[in-house]
Amino acid sequence: MNCTDLLSHLSDYFDDQLSEELREEISVHTAGCQHCRVVLNTTHQTIEVYKGAELYEVSPGLRDRLHDAIMARCFAKK
Ligand SMILES: [Zn+2]
Repeated sequence: MNCTDLLSHLSDYFDDQLSEELREEISVHTAGCQHCRVVLNTTHQTIEVYKGAELYEVSPGLRDRLHDAIMARCFAKK
């Protein structure tokens, strides 16, 4: 599991569509990757907001923006 893998599973993660194994891999990755923790927290908060407005959807556009932001940070750090 790397940042790209995690992001590719992001919408399934929040839809609760992942296997135990994948959820475990995500929690292992986020334990060691602050950026992905931030993304998960931010996305979770975003979903809560949209849920409140009954417009729940992790749009591909949002995912792309999160992906770009996190990859830029991860690569800048290393
Ligand atoms: Zn990561």
